[in-house]
Amino acid sequence: MFEQKPNKSIGCTVKNCMYHCQTENHCSLEKIHVGSCEPHPHKESCTDCRSFEAR
Ligand code: SF4
Repeated sequence: MFEQKPNKSIGCTVKNCMYHCQTENHCSLEKIHVGSCEPHPHKESCTDCRSFEAR
C-alpha cells in the first residue's frame, strides 16, 4: 500500500491526485517529473506535473 508521507520539498494543491497528502498541500512522492504540453512554454500554466495520477 502506498504511504502518504508528505514531502515538504514538493508543495502541491492538486487534491484529486492520488499522491496528494490531502491533510496538507504537499506531494507524497520522493520526486516528481514536470513537463509541458507546449513546445515553447512561456507561462506558469504551460507546465504540468507528469507524475499526476487521478484518484
Ligand atoms: S504527483 Fe504531482 S500532481 Fe500529484 S500530488 Fe504530486 S506534485 Fe501534485
